[in-house]
Amino acid sequence: MFSSTDIGIDLGTANILVYTKAKGIILNEPSVVALDTKSNKVIAFGEDAKAMIGKTPDSIRVVRPLKEGVIADFDVTIELLKLVMQKAAKQIGGSFRKPNVMICTPCGATSVERRAIVDAVKHSGAKSVHLIEEPVAAAIGADLPVSEPIASVIVDIGGGTTEVGIISFGGVVSANTVRVAGDRMDEDIIQYVRKKYNVLIGEPTAENIKKQIGYALISHEEETMEVRGRDIMTGLPKVVNLTSTEIQEALKESLLAILECIRATLENCPAELSGDIVDQGVIISGGGALLKGLQQWLSEEISVPVHIAPQPLESVAIGTGKSLVMLNKLDKIAR
Ligand code: ADP
Ligand code: MG
Repeated sequence: MFSSTDIGIDLGTANILVYTKAKGIILNEPSVVALDTKSNKVIAFGEDAKAMIGKTPDSIRVVRPLKEGVIADFDVTIELLKLVMQKAAKQIGGSFRKPNVMICTPCGATSVERRAIVDAVKHSGAKSVHLIEEPVAAAIGADLPVSEPIASVIVDIGGGTTEVGIISFGGVVSANTVRVAGDRMDEDIIQYVRKKYNVLIGEPTAENIKKQIGYALISHEEETMEVRGRDIMTGLPKVVNLTSTEIQEALKESLLAILECIRATLENCPAELSGDIVDQGVIISGGGALLKGLQQWLSEEISVPVHIAPQPLESVAIGTGKSLVMLNKLDKIAR
């Protein structure tokens, strides 16, 4: 039986979100945990822990326990989920005793990886755990007609992976994953600045550069940004001026890998559904959908309309929560 404290969780590589039907998104934090190196006790999580990345002494370890959409560090993931549940419960003014949880998994996750997600959520205090494929959740969250025999194409660009899914009749008809998304773009920028300027920058700086002057491969009015890092030769702090054209060059390979993944999925689409895709277009979601110019570039490349999901960073969480409500209805019918 389901109660009002049923929750939907989007356990992303970059961000973790919690949704309830009554309150909507009640928690949205980076999937980051800071631990005491010796005792392994959690010092901080979420936004507070993310602010520590690249700035801590040896006595503190900052961990992102999820990699490429799946659990890389099981124990730390449990700690993260426990803290998330506590904070989410406070958010709705109390505690939820043993909630039923709907949580998403990437399409490409193995059965072992799925099992690990279920176990981790159970360990953190859930009564029951249900899994939903990420593209289906993203499509529900973006209000697409998933349960109808109309093809919806979702491209979710997160931290660790880009997932492309074609959904029809409530299920995934065809899907593809590539391990290139936001994190890789940050890494691309770090490497580019290191090679071209002999300057080291950290991940948070690279992410800021991407968000501020990152562009998909379209012509645009050039923007510049002043960036601080450490000169590799002298070891001293150094300021460099980066342009959006340079960042475009840095991101080129990753963007082409994402495009290739989308093309491959569309080519695999059953002929009957291809027509729908021309009409409906492709929906992009996940934080990566916010990269400037991405919508325009993709629609030019694949010759199909491309739309950004209404709330790209929240679609999956909203979809997990909404699907829990559907499950609730099914449950009532079954009883
Ligand atoms: P996940 O589902 O893996 O947790 P998200 O969907 O939350 O990932 O997206 C996080 C990624 O989106 C990060 O790599 C972040 O840098 C990127 N991102 C967020 N905002 C922007 C933006 N405005 N432009 C480009 N990338 C962005
Ligand atoms: Mg995601």
